[in-house]
Amino acid sequence: MSEWASVLLVFWALWLADGVKLPAAARFGLAGAGRSARFVFGRLLLPGWSPTGWSVVADDIPFAISPVGISNRPVGAAGRPAEAPARATEWAWDDILETEQKGGWITINGARFCRDTGHLRAAQILGLARMPEPVRTARVGWWLQRWLRPVHLRRRAAALAGRTTMPALLNVLFLALAAVITAYLLADGASRLTPKQAESVARALPFVVGYLVLLHLAALAAAWMATRRLKVPGEDKRTIALFSAALLPPQALRLRALAGDGWFPAQHPLAFALAFAAKREREERAFQVLGDLRWPIGEADDPPLAKTVAAWHRAELTKRLGPLLAAAGLDEATLFAAPRADGPASCRYCPRCRSQFTTETARCPHGVELRPVAKG
Ligand SMILES: [Zn+2]
Repeated sequence: MSEWASVLLVFWALWLADGVKLPAAARFGLAGAGRSARFVFGRLLLPGWSPTGWSVVADDIPFAISPVGISNRPVGAAGRPAEAPARATEWAWDDILETEQKGGWITINGARFCRDTGHLRAAQILGLARMPEPVRTARVGWWLQRWLRPVHLRRRAAALAGRTTMPALLNVLFLALAAVITAYLLADGASRLTPKQAESVARALPFVVGYLVLLHLAALAAAWMATRRLKVPGEDKRTIALFSAALLPPQALRLRALAGDGWFPAQHPLAFALAFAAKREREERAFQVLGDLRWPIGEADDPPLAKTVAAWHRAELTKRLGPLLAAAGLDEATLFAAPRADGPASCRYCPRCRSQFTTETARCPHGVELRPVAKG
């Protein structure tokens, strides 16, 4: 029995570790179940435990874009702390001659520009640079709209669930059976049965293992067929992932998530929050995004063109977010209502980060103008 126990221990340890992500920079991890998802922002992203779950990693848009050019100063960031350059790099469209995707980064004219988050591929940046006016201005607006489509994200989640019903179901059966076997062995089930019963269980065990192998193979085949129907743009890593999962069964128990790799388009994290997050999380993300739009920080030393680009993107994003937030029942006045003093000495607060201050200073350390706290 002890070899069985160690095999099971390794099995469950691998199952727990599968899907853990340690990205180089903080990202949004969504562990989805049905139509909702748990939201985490950080450098350690844990997978969901459900075999029927799906997952997405989302990023803030790492650049600002406008009809005159592009800069790597992010605007309307949902993550905190937001990743931002000390000083922005900016390009007028007409100056962009070549772009490249290299090691997770996008380079423009050979210089590192921003992280490759999928919002704009290197070729698409070059495409914009080569477009004549006014086609380009229209295209820039089109892109902004494409990153804000919660309804589309919800449709994608529904399609993913629909096309991965079979692998998810087979995963549930596999896990349930593995859990029963584990419980039987760990609780020393044999000692609780009559010798005759224990003997027949021991005789059945190889068949149960064979059944698990069949479930494993059937689930892989079903997942492979699902990936054929769920076409993803760019490089498709799912075939290699399925091959790896075939050799290591604990990796083949989140096949819905595996089949959904690359299925969700890169959008603004707030679009993901509006599509899937609980009310509190939606409010929190909307607060961060609007706070970043209203009280941008860190751009004092940016070149004039970068400031122009960021200002245009900010104004456009603010305008386009209005109807989305209204539809989600999020009201800006409520989100930014003055907080009550958190102590008798508190008199001012920062509207961007909510820190409270006991002195009548004019600005918080980030340079945001302070406001008086609510009385009473
Ligand atoms: Zn502040």
